[in-house]
Amino acid sequence: MSQVIIIGAGPAGACLSLIFSQRDIPVTLIERRRNFDREFRGEILMPSGFEALMQLGIDKKLNKVSNHSPRQLKFYLNKKQILEINQKEVLGEQSIKAISQVDLLETLVKECKRYPCFKFYRGASVKSLIKEDNRVNGVNFLLDGGEKKEIYADLVIGADGRNSIVRKECDLTAYEYNTPMDIVWCKLPKPQDWHGVSVYGGQGNLLFAYQSWDDQLQLAWVVLKSQFKDLRDEGIEAWVELMSNHVDPVFSQHLRQNTSFISNQFFLNSVSDCVEEWSIPGAMVIGDAAHTMSPVGGQGLNIAMRDAVVSANYLVPIFKKDPLNLKKLDEAIKQIEADRMNELKSIQYKQSIPPKIMLNQSLLGDWALRVMALLVKLPFVARVLGKINNDFLYGKTKIELIV
Ligand SMILES: Cc1cc2nc3c(=O)[nH]c(=O)nc-3n(C[C@H](O)[C@H](O)[C@H](O)COP(=O)(O)OP(=O)(O)OC[C@H]3O[C@@H](n4cnc5c(N)ncnc54)[C@H](O)[C@@H]3O)c2cc1C
Repeated sequence: MSQVIIIGAGPAGACLSLIFSQRDIPVTLIERRRNFDREFRGEILMPSGFEALMQLGIDKKLNKVSNHSPRQLKFYLNKKQILEINQKEVLGEQSIKAISQVDLLETLVKECKRYPCFKFYRGASVKSLIKEDNRVNGVNFLLDGGEKKEIYADLVIGADGRNSIVRKECDLTAYEYNTPMDIVWCKLPKPQDWHGVSVYGGQGNLLFAYQSWDDQLQLAWVVLKSQFKDLRDEGIEAWVELMSNHVDPVFSQHLRQNTSFISNQFFLNSVSDCVEEWSIPGAMVIGDAAHTMSPVGGQGLNIAMRDAVVSANYLVPIFKKDPLNLKKLDEAIKQIEADRMNELKSIQYKQSIPPKIMLNQSLLGDWALRVMALLVKLPFVARVLGKINNDFLYGKTKIELIV
């Protein structure tokens, strides 16, 4: 019997599997995808996520994961540039990076495989949890060849993302924040002289364009939930035309000229929620499975890895004791939830504010943005905004792997 089953080899599941493996705790990781690149995955690595990753003790390997650190951040309002920030001047060496999540996950899983206590089922989909005497003690899953399997463990951890089967099987109810927007993602060739991130706002529009780890330009076009279905139906040409109308003339021309090279289109239904309780006896959820993050501020990947480090701090000492004390295990899970909720509540609340201003289609919305752009140049206001953004950049709590 494995001591722990982790469902989902996303950032949360892969990080936690590695920490357990390094500490000789038998862990089985089950991932439904054979290839990580089958889905678009978040790729903004904040200093807060970098801090969590560095706790894993594989710095040299992590440094080889494909990434790009943008130099400049430019803000445009109604096609005119109103603000430019140099990332290095503001953040110093601790930069925000665009990383290849696929590369990151492959690196983590490869590292796990060095340890004999690690077992990995790839291309295996968990279908249900096994429960006995009011306690979860295993999972039923299906290999991609069709073979059914069941395995048992002292703890089942759902790191299985926003459509978590563990959340459903454990009947964990979630409260949801109102997220007024959805996102259209796509890549296109980068203009030659493009360096960094440009944000285009005004009249209820919001478009992010940044140089990604693969030297392509990644676009994230934030649209109102009400627009989403029509855009999907209308197809690329129509929505490139719409985007082009809201950016500066040079970029507008580039968009139109490169329409046929657009790739990796993905319509993301934006959700922000958090389960009221993260566990039942024998099972718990972490990462997006516990709290699906809104895309605002590029937090999901980072928060998921921070959950993994904190979970390990509580769980490793319990699994290291023989015989395993189930009562203490269930208490530890509750402590993980309490520990993480402080950071989560604060970040999810702060994520809910910018869309209300940026997607405001009235003149008042544009006026608010213009005033903010002016105010941000004042040192006092910059300090206050910096403090708010600190949580997005560095997290609200200090994360340290202490086991
Ligand atoms: C389009 C898009 C863009 C994003 N952009 C950003 C960004 O720029 N920055 C950022 O920080 N975050 C971003 N995010 C969010 C970020 O990707 C997630 O918050 C983060 O990946 C959550 O990590 P996780 O490990 O909790 O779950 P996930 O990354 O969702 O991983 C869950 C894993 O579980 C597997 N799985 C699911 N169900 C089963 C099952 N039944 N059996 C076996 N395996 C299963 C899935 O295949 C998946 O690999 C984005 C998300 C999307 C979809």
